[in-house]
Amino acid sequence: DALNQSIADIKGINVSFEFFPPKTPDMEKTLWKSVERLAPLKPAYMSVTYGANSGERDRTHDVVKRIHKETGVAAVPHLTCVDASKDELRAIAKDYWDSGIRRIVALRGDLPQGVDKTDMYAADLVSLLKDVADFDISVAAYPEKHPEAPNAQFDLLNLKRKAEAGATQAISQFFFDAEVFLRFRDRAAAAGIELDIVPGILPVTNYQTLLRFAGFTNVHVPNWLHRLFDGLDKDDQTTRNLLGASIAMDTVKVLAKEGIRDFHFYTLNRSELSYAICHMLGVRAN
Ligand code: FAD
Repeated sequence: DALNQSIADIKGINVSFEFFPPKTPDMEKTLWKSVERLAPLKPAYMSVTYGANSGERDRTHDVVKRIHKETGVAAVPHLTCVDASKDELRAIAKDYWDSGIRRIVALRGDLPQGVDKTDMYAADLVSLLKDVADFDISVAAYPEKHPEAPNAQFDLLNLKRKAEAGATQAISQFFFDAEVFLRFRDRAAAAGIELDIVPGILPVTNYQTLLRFAGFTNVHVPNWLHRLFDGLDKDDQTTRNLLGASIAMDTVKVLAKEGIRDFHFYTLNRSELSYAICHMLGVRAN
């Protein structure tokens, strides 16, 4: 009761939604239906991923431009530096700036198989972008540590370097324990990191896909989540959606009560769960 009451009274929630470029005509339809459904919630922005090493940067750019044109919502491209030269990155950034884009999610990207070092990390990309134009820059943060980092402190100092290079917002990797995020936020503040650290919320709609994701990102999937989804693999999708929404709502309520006001949703190009969670948070059309 107390938790629901305190959520009902919260004002000033800001949300953002993340999408990925569709690969088939069916996925394309799903994406645009979701963009149309979520745009009236007036998110701070909608971002579009770019698969590092995919060579399909144009598709990210096309989706970004169309979101901007059709919805008026600020559209934000993700940009990775692992697979491009500095000159290419400068040219891409200039092109984005000239087409009215003011925010970029700046990432290193995953290293290709067999490579374990690179001469450009996300912090270097932030500096490069800031040299091209005065972008607002978001970066990635890892409450459970990035898989390659030798320890949590090393990874936190990396986040600090990204802030010092000019980033103003960090979007977190997804997580399932609100405490994990809150402790990370406190450690970042104690380390003097002046970034808005926004929780990345992944409403789970497909448990098997989640297990794959969690495996290569080192995200801990708690036992209670296994038990909740156990036996539902062949059940109606609606059952999994209801559970996924319920789990994400519990997390978001705890975070909101602890003072978090910004939320980033990994929509996976679907709108249903994110829409319901936003409604619960008081984020509504009109
Ligand atoms: P960095 O911040 O550069 O860190 C990478 C690793 O290197 C960390 O372990 C860090 O501690 C370490 N490190 C940093 N600097 C140094 C140094 N000087 N020497 C040694 N080690 C160092 N991937 C995509 O391909 N496309 C996307 O659109 C995309 N979007 C994402 C959005 C979010 C919100 C998140 C959380 C991740 C996203 N990713 C995306 C995944 C991301 O590209 C990978 O996690 C990648 O492996 C690391 O990117 P980064 O920007 O965090 O890298």
